[in-house]
Formats: sequence, C-alpha cells, structure tokens
Amino acid sequence: MTLIEESARIVSIKGSTVQAKGLSSYRMGEITYVGEERLIGEVIAIEHDTATVQVYEPLEGLRVNDPLYPTGKSLSAELGPGLLSNIFDGIQRPLEKIKSISGSGFIKRGIRTNALDREQKWTFEPRKELKKGETIKGGDVLGKIQETESISSNVLIPPNINGELVEIIDKGEYAVSDTVAVYKNKSGSKIDLTMMHEWPVRIARPYLSKLPVSGPLITGQRIVDMFFPISKGGTAAIPGGFGTGKTVIQHQLSKWSDADVVIYIGCGERGNEMTDVLREFPKLIDPHTNNPLMDRTLLIANVSNMPVAAREASIYMGITMAEYYRDQGFNVLLTADSTSRWAEALREISGQLEEMPVESGYPAYLGARLANFYERAGQVVALGSPYREGSINITAAVSPPGGDFSEPVTANTKRFVKTFWGLDPALANRKHFPSINCQNSYSGYIEEIEEWALETGLEDWGRYRQEMLKILQKNSELEHIVELIGSKALPADEQLIILIANIIKEGFLQQNAFHPIDTFCSIEKQMKMMKLILLFHERANILIKNGCPVSLINSLRTVQILKMMKEEIRNEDLTQLNKIEDHIISDMEELGSKYGYM
Ligand code: ADP
Ligand code: MG
Repeated sequence: MTLIEESARIVSIKGSTVQAKGLSSYRMGEITYVGEERLIGEVIAIEHDTATVQVYEPLEGLRVNDPLYPTGKSLSAELGPGLLSNIFDGIQRPLEKIKSISGSGFIKRGIRTNALDREQKWTFEPRKELKKGETIKGGDVLGKIQETESISSNVLIPPNINGELVEIIDKGEYAVSDTVAVYKNKSGSKIDLTMMHEWPVRIARPYLSKLPVSGPLITGQRIVDMFFPISKGGTAAIPGGFGTGKTVIQHQLSKWSDADVVIYIGCGERGNEMTDVLREFPKLIDPHTNNPLMDRTLLIANVSNMPVAAREASIYMGITMAEYYRDQGFNVLLTADSTSRWAEALREISGQLEEMPVESGYPAYLGARLANFYERAGQVVALGSPYREGSINITAAVSPPGGDFSEPVTANTKRFVKTFWGLDPALANRKHFPSINCQNSYSGYIEEIEEWALETGLEDWGRYRQEMLKILQKNSELEHIVELIGSKALPADEQLIILIANIIKEGFLQQNAFHPIDTFCSIEKQMKMMKLILLFHERANILIKNGCPVSLINSLRTVQILKMMKEEIRNEDLTQLNKIEDHIISDMEELGSKYGYM
C-alpha cells in the first residue's frame, strides 16, 4: 500500500456520501474503497482538498478518520459472455453470488465479486477471416460464442484499440479472462485480448454512425403497436400515478416484444415488484424463439430498500450493457422502472453535496442527465467489421407524485422521448388496462412506421389507425353531452359512434396482461381485429342511414363476439376471425332485410 492511500481519511459523513481529505489529488469518477470493510464508493465532487465519495453500500458503522483506498479506476461494467440470464445489483454484482458469499438472506457489506464468472467455460470460435499480421481495430468481431440457446454472441475487440493481430487461438473451451488473441500496438508492445472487457459506464460507447429509425418494436400490445408505436431504437416514457399500470406495461414489453435482448432495470421501486419479475420471468417461454425468456434477458435489481447511490448507478450499468449488445448487432430493449426513483436519488445526493436546488429540490443538471441517458438510445452502425447494425430502445416509467405530469421529471423526460404513453387514473379505476389515455398520448414514429407498414404488406395500418382514433376522438367529444342528457337524445350516427367506440375500448384497447391468450396479440391478429370492427361500423352505418335504430344493432350477437375475440381467438387460429367477418355480414343482412333497412 502506498503512503498516499494511507493518508486518505474520512472527515465527515452525510447521508450516502463521505467527505475525505488527505490525498494530494483526487480524480472525479474514481472508484474508492471506503473504511476497513472497503465499501465501494465513487468520487462525485472535489472542492479544494476535499473529495466527496458516494458510497454504494449501507454506511452504518463508518466513522470519521476511517481510511479510504482509491483504485485509479472509474465505475465500469464488465462486458462479455455470461451477462444474459443473470441478475445484477446496481453496481453489477451478481445477486446470487453475493448472496451465497454473504451466507444469508442479507447482503453483507464490502463484498466484491466479478460480474462475470471466471470459472465458466465457453466454446470460443474464432472468426475465420481474421489472419495473423492483419490490422485490427476496436469493434472488430474476434469470434463467436453461444451465450444462451437464443443468443449467439459476438466477441468484440474493445473500442479504442488499433494494432496488428499477432495470435488468435483455435476453437476451444475458454473462460472469459483467458487470452484468446494477442495484438501488437503502435509502439510494438504485445497485448492480450480476452472474451471480456471493461467499459466506464458514464461514457457512451462509441459507434460508427447513427441511423434513422425504421421499423417498429413489435410488442404484442395492441394500443402500443397500432396506436402509439415505438421504433426499434426509439424512446418512450410511461408516466402514471401509483397503480395505473406502469410496471405491468414494462413487464409486458420485456416479455413479449421482438427485441433480441432485454435489459430490465428495477430501479428504486418496491421489492415485491422485482420479486414478481424474479419469480415469473424464469418460467416464461419467448414466443419468438420458443426458448426460455431468460435466455435473452438480463435483470438489474436495485429496489427501494437498497442503497440510493447504487440506484443512481444502476441506470448507467444498464445502458452500458445495452450498448454492448447493440455493438454486437442486436436490437436491445432497455426498460427502467422507474426513472423518477433514479431522479430522486440524484436529488438526494445533490442535497448531500449542498448544491443549489432548482425545481422541487431537483438539481439544475436533472435535464442534462436525462438527455444523456435517452441519447444513448438509437439505431447505429457499430464500429469494426463485419458490418453490423444494432439498436437500443429505451422505455422508462415515470412516477409523478400525485400523477401530476407537469412536475420536473415528467416534464423533462417529455423533452427527450418521442413516444409518450400517458397513463390515466380514471381508466385504471375503471379497470381499463393498459390505462393509456388516447387523448394525451402520442408517437413520434408514425411516418417511419407507416413506411414500414407499406413495405410489409400492412398497407391498411395507417388508415385503420386514423379511423379508429377519429371515432375515439368524436366519442370523447360526445361523452360530456351524454353525461348530461344521456345517449338516447343524440342523432343515430352519433349513437353509433358511441357504440363503436365502446367496442374499440372493450374489444381492442383493453388488453388483459394476465389472460393466457390476450397477453400477447400478434400483428396479424391486431390488424384483423381492427378490420372487423371497422367493417362492423361501415355496415352499421348503412343500416342507420336507412332508418335502423342503433338499439337493434347493439343487440346483435356480433357486438359481443367483437368484444370477446381478443380472448377467444388464439394467435395461431386466425382463420376463426374470417368466420366473424361472415357473422358480421350475415347479421347485418338479416337485420336489414327483416326490417327493410337495406
Ligand atoms: P404501477 O406500477 O403504475 O403502480 P402496476 O403496474 O403495478 O401499477 O399495476 C397495478 C395493478 O393494475 C396490477 O397489479 C394489475 O392488477 C392491474 N393492471 C395493470 N395493467 C394491467 C393489464 N394490462 N391487465 C390486467 N391488469 C392490469
Ligand atoms: Mg410500479
């Protein structure tokens, strides 16, 4: 141990931070072990000769004068095979491992363990094109390993490397820290490459170029896919008060969307929500691959009773791991529940630093931090060869106190995300889930997705969407009048709008996350459902024009069939929907001819 390290001492302790003196120089962002137990901390402020270190573990028992041990390293993530199917805490410690080291349900303090298992062997297959003597650079693919049944990972040369390949091993079984290649840098030194590398989490990983977003992230959630979609590489916020369904939506996106890799960050929410994830996800099968869902999933758990500083770090850990899979050429979905708890951690730490608060106690850099986070989403061309495109979607829950969307975290988030799924407590109270309010929600990706829809043979998508939104808009204008005088006083075409809007809401927009069939709805089924509801509207319109009362249309059995098709028709059984089409036509014809309305 050097003299300098020994002279660093705690001079005060505030909340989750300690103030330290005694080093001739401190570096911002430096990981520093605190106290004899060597709790993990990071330098977050330096003023004159005093450094403030935020500590990622509970501080109980630390005392003034306890020593600090700077490491010279920044807060970094380990990147390599073995991340998928794993569960980490906010500073990337594998939870199972630290629990077993602790030997009890509680996590002991000061436990340091590698994120990636050093014992596990992987079958590394070198990339054939790579020859000794060849120039290599950051981002090049060195080889492949089958990380899980679903994911064949690319082993990447870390960014910022340039040199000549001296050696690459043959196919075989290796641990993540074994040398699989050697290169010579510009000054002639030989450097080993392994299947893993580290990356400082607060710095975005580099890529070659950003691409415009294109096709949608298909989520199997009707209101998302059809009304307020999100592109691959896009961003969305899910703001809503307590109990409006934020967590359920995040779970649904993580389970069913067609991303290659899903990173779920449970950030500062109650522990039981994370327990649900831990209990449920390992049992699920990914409908896109038929492999266990966990094969493509990575969980970060930093729930409300875990240290607040680690909550702040968890977002960066998550996005860095997302970038690593993006760089391999995957489409990654990152969900964070909830960014409000993260912002609260920022606020708490800022308070401990005695910074000047701006709005509701949040620091002035809240907006900048949120911008930084969302900027790390997007679709990119990765560094190195062969050519790869990858993307990161960010969908983040926001929990505004009292459901007030004008509060700083929601308002700032709105500036940086393109899709907004505003949850509505009135809908949630009526058990209308997902409680996304069509009037205040939007998607900034409609044009791109319309293009994609045309190319994919879904040319009616835009028109169906417009028509349905128009009906809902009209309906919401009528709602107020209906409240006052009842629907019977309205003209027949307006009564019909109310009936159709009701079918759209109950039969299409409401989607039960816990129903075995309804939990996931394929795009084909979604399109057919829309088509049927709109066909019903069109035919009903003809009848009412000929004097048929809406009450007769309302009593048709197809109304009930349209409301039930979401739960009764399986994704694999869409021909059944053609039968409903026949029903609609014959019901309407029967009604028309019986009463002479045709
Ligand atoms: P939040 O995270 O906003 O506090 P949750 O996601 O925990 O809210 O949702 C609260 C409750 O609402 C859930 O426990 C569930 O009963 C119900 N819920 C939410 N979304 C759905 C859905 N899509 N289908 C069925 N029930 C839902
Ligand atoms: Mg929740």
